[in-house]
Amino acid sequence: MAVMALPAAEWRGRAARLWAALGPAPRERLAAASLGDAVRLGCDLLRTEEEEEAALVQLCHRSPTDKKPEAAGWYREQGNQEFKRGQYQAALRLYSKAASHELPGSPELSVCFANRSAALLHLGHFEVCLEDIARAESHGYPDKLLPKVLLRKAECLLCLGRLQDAQDILRVLESKIALDGVMTTHLTQLKKLSQLKVKLGEKQRCPEPAREARGGTQGEPEIWEENSRISGASSSLSLSFDAERGRHLVASQDIMPGQSLVKEEAFVSVLCPGESLPLQDGDTAWDTRATNADLYCHRCLRQLLASVPCQGCSYAKYCSQDCADVAWQQYHRTECSLGALLLTLGVFCHVALRTVLLAGFAEVSRLVAGSHRGDKNFQNPEASCKPLSEAADAGAGSRGCDSSVVPGCDSSGWYQSSYQALFHLLPHTEQHSPEHKFLCTLSVVALCKQLQAAGLGAAVLSQESPQQWSKLKTCEKTSDELSPELKTVAEAMLRHVLQLQCNAQAITVMQELGPGDGAVVDKKPVRLATAFFPVLSLLNHSCCPNTSVSFSGTAATVRAAQPISSGQEVLHCYGPHRCRMGVAERQQLLSQYFFECRCPACLQELESGVKSVVSIRNSFCCPKCQAQMQGEEDTLCCSNEACATSVSRDHLSGRLQDLQQQIKKALDLLRVRKADQAIKMLLKCQMDAGTFLSPEHLLMGEMEDHLAQVYATLGKWQEAARHLKKSIEIVEMHHGPSSVETGHELFKLAQILFNGFAVSEALSTIQRAEGILSVHFGPQSAQIQELQEMKACLSELPRNILQRT
Ligand SMILES: [Zn+2]
Ligand SMILES: [Zn+2]
Ligand SMILES: [Zn+2]
Ligand SMILES: [Zn+2]
Repeated sequence: MAVMALPAAEWRGRAARLWAALGPAPRERLAAASLGDAVRLGCDLLRTEEEEEAALVQLCHRSPTDKKPEAAGWYREQGNQEFKRGQYQAALRLYSKAASHELPGSPELSVCFANRSAALLHLGHFEVCLEDIARAESHGYPDKLLPKVLLRKAECLLCLGRLQDAQDILRVLESKIALDGVMTTHLTQLKKLSQLKVKLGEKQRCPEPAREARGGTQGEPEIWEENSRISGASSSLSLSFDAERGRHLVASQDIMPGQSLVKEEAFVSVLCPGESLPLQDGDTAWDTRATNADLYCHRCLRQLLASVPCQGCSYAKYCSQDCADVAWQQYHRTECSLGALLLTLGVFCHVALRTVLLAGFAEVSRLVAGSHRGDKNFQNPEASCKPLSEAADAGAGSRGCDSSVVPGCDSSGWYQSSYQALFHLLPHTEQHSPEHKFLCTLSVVALCKQLQAAGLGAAVLSQESPQQWSKLKTCEKTSDELSPELKTVAEAMLRHVLQLQCNAQAITVMQELGPGDGAVVDKKPVRLATAFFPVLSLLNHSCCPNTSVSFSGTAATVRAAQPISSGQEVLHCYGPHRCRMGVAERQQLLSQYFFECRCPACLQELESGVKSVVSIRNSFCCPKCQAQMQGEEDTLCCSNEACATSVSRDHLSGRLQDLQQQIKKALDLLRVRKADQAIKMLLKCQMDAGTFLSPEHLLMGEMEDHLAQVYATLGKWQEAARHLKKSIEIVEMHHGPSSVETGHELFKLAQILFNGFAVSEALSTIQRAEGILSVHFGPQSAQIQELQEMKACLSELPRNILQRT
């Protein structure tokens, strides 16, 4: 997971070669260097290695973020073609891409917004359509095309039931036509105008009854009492410390499943660009696929419908002008021109830069200076920290540790999601490999040099007073050496990049798969952004955690996933979960956090040699007798002694790969709506899988799930439900009956049963799904709301339909 956040492979390769070419003496010096010294050494090195900087510039050409009007024209043309084919969703995305490449204030940009508003109208997003029309108007939409958008506006207002506004627009339009003369107006537009007037008249005569707000779907309000010492944490937790576990959170009273334990807004978050093949050198084809960067607001991470592009680059896109303005003010004015470099250096560097921009130079330099004061406690804040809970127990008189300030806490012993708390997260400076430290140093220094060269250094240092920038700018450009202030910034950034390896929190969302027009919505978790959550970071890892984390925008909520009794540690899974991988793989992944996991699952699997759930369930079976295959070596043997068949592991792995390929092909068929062929192919895959995979293999469940999906697209609800139930059995076996995974499968089953009018079974499935999902996501979540709407709808069904089931 962390690999994605590292710099581009070519830059990593260059850094590795440079490292190898260094003599042993400089290597040793770098390995032992403090963060500040590392920055100084990095500066010296990059000054003599101009070739490296040139190579980095070259690499940046592969992920350009500047506006290209010629790309805009091409995207708009593609959008028009999709629009003509009635593919409004695709058209919408392409018009957004086009808009991101048009220059601000250009008539072309307003045409983009106008075209996009047409797609939005077809998709029924009337409010957003009106916003786009307003954008088109404000960017100087060509006057002769105006009747077209005015008609659209009137139609939109009609749909929204804003009859008076619609009437006003139609009047404006009529007078405009009268003024310009009928000759210049298209006949079709005149026809549309009279149609709309008829519709308006009808609506005015018999107004639609006002829509009743649906009551009772809000769910119960959550009980939340905030901790008096840790912002964003529940009062049922306390902060503790011991040598083995460091700072950690403990239940100070019995906790019920589903109870919220931490609610925290990210201190900083950066959208992950998402999968997209980088352009090859000399490649001119533009990519029409949508990535994370096209789908989510770059500031608040809300899903984008009609994005507002950044004025300066083609990369940053926002959900609203408000988000665009705030992002610009807080950090994007500095980041905007560095887009390509930030994409090349990776998300960790980007998070580090945004962190210092959000903190402000005054705070950054104060804390960096503090870290220089030779204060040993500062390097290892936890060493000096007595259990906070003890201090709390001792009463209000003694706060924090030894009445001095606990690192990360403010002067009154309050721990909150602040830059100070973030700064004190452990950077593990000594534990990172020297080579990794070198790569990070080089990247951070290159970024700061670019900041200086672009005249942005001043902007970083004095966020408040842009007046003084010009003065500083002139001295910046003349020097090849990083200014002392930027060295301080670089040092803080290096610290943050190193901290991220252990403390980066991935913000994930459930993203809809496929075209999104099916009756049953299939979703998979997607990593959206990388963030710092100083309070969430207090939680230690376990491969069998007792909590569950969910995200809404940039806010994280941790809930108890099971009863936690008073005194128990509250634990969170950093990624390697016992249900997803075996102990060896988990320990390997956890080594990046510089600790050996001693959770019950790991101890059990390590000490007693118990095989992990994963390896048992995901094992191969004998092609002859279907008994389980055994063995750790290259050759696997049938566990049935009478059979004694042996097969090479490579052979079975090869078959597994082939199978996965076939399944992918079947899904491609589904995507182009060849459902019957997809079913045939999946059934063949199932037959094949049955001859060499254990019946409990996760892939067996996935095939059932896919089959359910295909039958659902055909409206064959009973078939769909039958397959989904088999999938649920396997998911339950792997992840447990109250896991998120099982909850999502039950949600799908509820949708299928709902669509198939299987009322009583639908109701009981909804109930089960609700029970599980509200523990993980809370009673207010979108999933629960949807389930409750289904329930309400089912209970309102007329009796004659109910009797059919
Ligand atoms: Zn936003
Ligand atoms: Zn920008
Ligand atoms: Zn573990
Ligand atoms: Zn056998």
